[in-house]
Amino acid sequence: TTFPADFAARTAASAALFERAKRSVPGGAGSTARLPRNGWEPYPLFIADGEGSRIRDVDGHEYIDYLLGLGPMILGHRHPGVTQAVVDAVRDLGTCFGLPYELEIEAAEKVVAAVPSLEQVRFTNSGSEAVGTAVRLARATTGRRLVVRFEGHYHGWQDTVYWSNHVDPHRAGPAAHPRPVAMGPGVPAELEDTLIVLSWNDPESFAALMAERGDEVAAVLTEPAVFNTGCILPEPGYLELLRELTRTHGAMLIFDEVITGFRFARGGAQEWFGIDPDLTTFAKGIGGGFPVAAVGGTREAMRLVADGTYSHSGTYNANVVQCAAVSATMDVLAQPGLYERQRALGDRLARGLEAIADENGVPAHVTGIGTVFQLWFTDREIRNWRDAAAHAREDVFTRWYQEMVVRGVLFHPLQFENLFVSLVHTDADIDETLNAASDAMRVVA
Ligand code: PLP
Repeated sequence: TTFPADFAARTAASAALFERAKRSVPGGAGSTARLPRNGWEPYPLFIADGEGSRIRDVDGHEYIDYLLGLGPMILGHRHPGVTQAVVDAVRDLGTCFGLPYELEIEAAEKVVAAVPSLEQVRFTNSGSEAVGTAVRLARATTGRRLVVRFEGHYHGWQDTVYWSNHVDPHRAGPAAHPRPVAMGPGVPAELEDTLIVLSWNDPESFAALMAERGDEVAAVLTEPAVFNTGCILPEPGYLELLRELTRTHGAMLIFDEVITGFRFARGGAQEWFGIDPDLTTFAKGIGGGFPVAAVGGTREAMRLVADGTYSHSGTYNANVVQCAAVSATMDVLAQPGLYERQRALGDRLARGLEAIADENGVPAHVTGIGTVFQLWFTDREIRNWRDAAAHAREDVFTRWYQEMVVRGVLFHPLQFENLFVSLVHTDADIDETLNAASDAMRVVA
């Protein structure tokens, strides 16, 4: 075994910074997702810098980066055009006015033009904020309280939605009638009554719920493909059913496109699958790595925001860094052929990894779409969280991550996350990754 001995020998500077960080930063890192207990054993790598598809740790090792900041670095690190646009805007305009300005309109126009269902959009700071806004707006618009969401999906850390992500099936009960489970302490238990949690990709339970309580439902909130449990795609007809029954019952359909937005198609999952939601949330990809999120929808869905009845406020909403980043990112994403090329690149990596697993007799398969996918260490089909919880070999995945990271390939250590391929990864990156994978898989097998 090469881990953790090799890892420790390579990463002395990260280890030292982790000890120092723990004294002033709780847990030693700025997000709970970066702590050892969330996969980054024995301590997270500390990063010196990144450029394009590569990232470098403080011990001077370079990694081909498929973590991509957990998704935002859709154009790789330090994209020259987007970086320049942000630097120019901050120097020439300022950062934050507390009043509207023209670059905000420009950014909004480009997002609206890119995404099929959008007629209007507001910018905000994080995916969690955007989802919180969409959920409350749906309640305000419909005058109803119930929100339907699905196990295995993640919609950010706000109380209203911080439920039933990677929940223990024993706590949640039968898949046909799961009960909502708060994902951590501090979430008011009373909110359970405002939620219906279902298994995803299960048309029967959704149809039954809507038949029984559809007229009480304010919103159905879903990732259009579940990229917070590996990468699970909707079965044919499932998103169509969500669209049809929300419409029938006067509920709003919210697509949380925080991961899928701009990722494998410019118009997001809604373009790819051909389904128009009422409201959509974005973050991660929309700003090319700068901190920005958005909530948008049809003019009708944004009506209460437009007339001011619904207060969508925020000191930093649509600040200059955000709007410059969005505007420049949208320009880069409009390049013809970009997505086709990168989806093909990602597919080559995915098929290559499957082939290498197969050659080594390791049961594994890939799910996802081109620029975001996951290698599941199981032959069993994964249709939703219950399948993932039952069949995924988390232990094998972590071994695989460990053997790859010491060979210069970085991705998230947990099976239920995924690999992001940026729009600037190259064929040479894929070749190098597959070479490392051939070695690593022999050790895992
Ligand atoms: N929604 C989805 C689908 C996400 O994947 C995430 C973050 O991973 C969020 C919402 C929350 O976004 P943020 O971390 O920017 O608050």
